[in-house]
Amino acid sequence: MKESVDGHNHNHAHQEAAHGHSHTHDHGHLAHHAHPHAHPVTGGHTSRRDFLRVLMGGALTGASILELAYHRAAWARAAAPSADLDLFDLQKAADGVYFAHARPQTVINCNAAIFVRSKDVVVVDAHSKPSAAASLIAQIKRQITTKPVRYVINTHFHWDHTQGNHAYRQTGEKVDFIASATTKQLMTDLAVARMKASVDAVPQQIDALRERAARSTSAAEKTFCAGEIRHLQAYQAELKNYTLELPTITFDKSHLLPDAAFDLHLEFHGHAHTAGDVFVFCPQQRAVATGDASHGWLPFIADGFPRVWPGTIDRVAQSDFKHILPGHGPLQADRVVMTSQRNYIEELAGKVAEGKQAGLTVAEIQQRVTVASLKALQSNGYEAFLTRTLAASHPHFGKMPPLQEAVNVNIAEVYQNLDRV
Ligand SMILES: [Zn+2]
Ligand SMILES: [Zn+2]
Repeated sequence: MKESVDGHNHNHAHQEAAHGHSHTHDHGHLAHHAHPHAHPVTGGHTSRRDFLRVLMGGALTGASILELAYHRAAWARAAAPSADLDLFDLQKAADGVYFAHARPQTVINCNAAIFVRSKDVVVVDAHSKPSAAASLIAQIKRQITTKPVRYVINTHFHWDHTQGNHAYRQTGEKVDFIASATTKQLMTDLAVARMKASVDAVPQQIDALRERAARSTSAAEKTFCAGEIRHLQAYQAELKNYTLELPTITFDKSHLLPDAAFDLHLEFHGHAHTAGDVFVFCPQQRAVATGDASHGWLPFIADGFPRVWPGTIDRVAQSDFKHILPGHGPLQADRVVMTSQRNYIEELAGKVAEGKQAGLTVAEIQQRVTVASLKALQSNGYEAFLTRTLAASHPHFGKMPPLQEAVNVNIAEVYQNLDRV
């Protein structure tokens, strides 16, 4: 990974970074609120205080005083009734269908889809930490409905979609977690290891930020780095006592959640971003939540199936929907981005296969397969969309790394996983 223009290490900043891979990811700050220190836990009304006490009780063994303070701040933020502290921007996609667009954070959160039914709520995906899920729970109550969350669907096993599950359990409401049987198996096998990998990557990330702050002559950049460090410390402290919350309902091909308001069809259509991706389709509202099998960033392919992924999207695309609620990036009102990403994966798989067959190394393929040479990126404004979306989704100070760096990561991932079916 080459050094970027502003002299620090960007690595996978374009992607769902750190999906269990320890790499430096030093963009980022505390979204729109880099002040995780001044919000006393005791500020909320009684139920919130009790909620926090339950959540925090016993969760801090081994944490330093400093980490304890950051951990408390994360939870205070989760409970704070202030839009300034919210971690999500909520948008209405259709009647009863809402999109929670994650604000940028160094330790990324996935988006959520929120389906408000006649008596309860279904939420799709649960972010990278319980405090983020608690923040969304509070936001739903404040901005959408006081109906309880009855079901949480995990579209796939990745840490940034499942590590917040426990916050829903901690509300005390009856809740079930739904996923494909494959996702439950992958969570059983990998969730704790991936969580540990993401936490173990933190000290190195903090070191890099400290060095960068020390090198910098810009007060603003120093402040940016300090905010990033606080955010990483809060994540580290919070995840010290991780509670794995496995799916309680699983299925192989499909699962129906019927309701007077509308039905939700949970569907597995084949291998894609992982071996167990689930799509949540609402026929009455013509909406689909796609997790990371189709989203607004460049795809993350390290656990993926580049050869068969496009076919999986083609099967999904046979359903009648208009609103696409992706796991990352903005809400879509048409299929342009879904199609572009599908085409990008197909084209990249073809070009990497060609290079691999010709005996080229990954580095040689990366030299040849450029952003400018990829038709999918050059069609329908996809390159411009990605550039815009990635900058808006990732906290950064100074320039974002060039898109080619992320394409290079994709090339390496595809090379590795080319034969997976
Ligand atoms: Zn993700
Ligand atoms: Zn993912």
